[in-house]
Amino acid sequence: MEDQHRRRALEELQCVLIGKDAFAVDAIIEQLHRDSYWRTGAVFRTALGGIEAALLDIKGKARGVPVFELLGGKYRDRVACYANHWFFGAVTPEQYADNARKAVAMGYRALKWDPFDTADLEMDRKQRRSTIEIVDAVRDAVGPDVDLMLDVHGRLNVPTAIAMCRALAPFDLTWIEGPTPPESIDALADVRANSPVPIAAGERFYEPARFLEALSKKAIDILQPDVSHAGGMGETKRVAHLAHTHLIPLAPHNSVGPVMNAMTLHLSVAIPNFSVFETVSVDVPWRKELVRETLQFENGFILVPTAPGLGVELIEEACMTASSNRSARRSSSTTFRAICSWPPSSVRHR
Ligand code: MG
Repeated sequence: MEDQHRRRALEELQCVLIGKDAFAVDAIIEQLHRDSYWRTGAVFRTALGGIEAALLDIKGKARGVPVFELLGGKYRDRVACYANHWFFGAVTPEQYADNARKAVAMGYRALKWDPFDTADLEMDRKQRRSTIEIVDAVRDAVGPDVDLMLDVHGRLNVPTAIAMCRALAPFDLTWIEGPTPPESIDALADVRANSPVPIAAGERFYEPARFLEALSKKAIDILQPDVSHAGGMGETKRVAHLAHTHLIPLAPHNSVGPVMNAMTLHLSVAIPNFSVFETVSVDVPWRKELVRETLQFENGFILVPTAPGLGVELIEEACMTASSNRSARRSSSTTFRAICSWPPSSVRHR
């Protein structure tokens, strides 16, 4: 449903673009935002992000430079990656541990997952014990030098979130993400104030003012804007600088396809307070049929792209077919074997 809404939003906005100077990227995005009565939300701001990505891709190719050069240039030559979705198919602590070892063997030095079972605001004693046993098994499997992050997906109430942060602190976690539902920043601030583990959040914030509220209320240790949902690379860069004034790092949310991966990568190299890059280590087997990518994955890092524009080319006919084939999307039923399909074949492992 959301895909259809985003497509409809793009169709609504395209008439504004006809005849515009494609290089006046910020002015176009500002006009689209100003002229939208509803102004916000994941659907509208994702459409803005898509248009901005297309405009910057055009401008980068015309100028012969990667998009990060249009964002102010690079701060770094590579980004440290963490793996998500590496755990698909695991049920028992032993299976989680086995998958974690395989992900580390691929070069990852940081792993994230959601071990909170079917938690819904509260967790009973059996659920809490199961979560702790899984985290214990993964920490034991990977040793002390691998970063571990846990994602709650905003499903706990405040006292349960605080209790779980305290119970999981002995496993030396890098962060616990989205402990409470995204609607209340006060609740998030309450958890952070009482958690011995750093708190990450932000993938379901959309407006810069929302990020500023989270920063002002000291609700987060690591900010996670979604470069698409936040309205594009330029808008997310502005959020990054807001965070930098509070000395808060960014670990951008990056959970979907190759275009957003490229957008997140260009943004990540062009901000001073970048922390770590999310990669979806399991993907649909037909990803490489949709796009041509030139990513280089090296010992847990992705190297800065050098191709003009975003560095990812859509194979449009295949994309249209795939977008209508909803049953073939990535899902948690994917087995761990699929980790070998990402990074795609065009990525060179060294
Ligand atoms: Mg998340």
